[in-house]
Amino acid sequence: MLTQIQGQRANGQASREPANHGGGVPGIPRTNGNGQKLLMRVRPRGFCAGVVRAVDIVELALEAFGSPVYVHHEIVHNRYVVEQLRRRGAIFVETIREVPEGAVLVFSAHGVPPRVREEAQERRLKVIDATCPLVTKVHLEALRFAREERTLILIGHRDHQEIVGTSGEAPDRTVVVGTVEEADQLEVADPTRLAYLTQTTLSMYDTQEIVARLRQRFPTIAGPASDDICYATQNRQEAVEALAREVELILVVGSANSSNSNRLVEVAQRAGVRSRLIEDANDIQAEWLGDTRSVGLTAGASAPEILVEQVSQKLASLGYTDQRDLDLINEDVRFTLPPELAAHREASARV
Ligand code: SF4
Repeated sequence: MLTQIQGQRANGQASREPANHGGGVPGIPRTNGNGQKLLMRVRPRGFCAGVVRAVDIVELALEAFGSPVYVHHEIVHNRYVVEQLRRRGAIFVETIREVPEGAVLVFSAHGVPPRVREEAQERRLKVIDATCPLVTKVHLEALRFAREERTLILIGHRDHQEIVGTSGEAPDRTVVVGTVEEADQLEVADPTRLAYLTQTTLSMYDTQEIVARLRQRFPTIAGPASDDICYATQNRQEAVEALAREVELILVVGSANSSNSNRLVEVAQRAGVRSRLIEDANDIQAEWLGDTRSVGLTAGASAPEILVEQVSQKLASLGYTDQRDLDLINEDVRFTLPPELAAHREASARV
């Protein structure tokens, strides 16, 4: 049963008063005229296809192989998701030596460096890879540029698990750059043999600025066809920009270590709106609301819809009873499961 965490996914119909505004966003009144305060939930929000796949993989592995199933790093950066899976028998580890020989091990959606794969093989683990296919694509680009003997400038957050994984493909050739200032200070041996790649969950604006500076300094630098920021990150950021035109405060449901959730807060603030990252409804502080008449709500790509519903209920209890949904982009991306788990799911469905 794949219900506990994903029962109400980002595309679940939870709205009380759906408002599909298509591509354009007409002005929305900040109150409904009879004094009710407004809560505007924007879509797309919450689980992306990579997170759905990763959570499915752990749940199916628990069904197929029984507990415990070991997971390298948090499967996705969300406390609620991790806790739910832990209760069902997942054990989260940071190193391969914590996993008993021969056990089942899932790699998280963020990906791993090749040395972790090698260690898992040496320990004869049964590995199931939940790396998001869009992260794998960046790994393959890194390998291609390394084969071309280029120095790889990886734009992202140095300590993030995804950057740890991608930079591990060619550690001797990779430099991580996180800001325009770092791009300015970068020293390279051969400025004519460079390439850049980006983390998938960055701010579109910050990334554009860093790439522009790199291109200015190193005009022949190679790069991906577009940047590597994934569709889910881009869609959620664009949705928050639209939401920021309609409300006074934006709450983002997501964990503190979730890169894309933190970027949503920054995008809202950049658009001139107050914004707060909240783990769940318990984080809401009355003083943030004050005399705020309109609140916007979104969720990072690893935050489940159940938390959005709980926040909506809490805000209703605080007077935000005019609750609407702002639907902007219909996401229909799906990623396939590893073959053994797809087969298990099919077999279970037939029983
Ligand atoms: S945020 Fe993007 S890259 Fe990360 S898991 Fe989701 S779809 Fe994949």
